[in-house]
Amino acid sequence: MYSDDMPLHAMHALHFIAACDSCGARSELVCGHELPSARREAVARLTTLGWSQAVPDTERTETRGWVHAEGAGQWRCPLCTL
Ligand SMILES: [Zn+2]
Repeated sequence: MYSDDMPLHAMHALHFIAACDSCGARSELVCGHELPSARREAVARLTTLGWSQAVPDTERTETRGWVHAEGAGQWRCPLCTL
């Protein structure tokens, strides 16, 4: 484990890149290293940044909830969301 006495820490992290389905704009962010929580953290942060996610209406309700939580739908950047 890490010690507080160590001044330089190497942390694992996951690098996420979201691509806008409409204009192709990308947003990059780094989240914690544990899945699936890091993925959910990325979804929450993208939403805070103004990105929105479209989940296909064809999916069942339970599936839609999962797709939304996992960020598996199509994303739109803040400009295309307006
Ligand atoms: Zn866009």
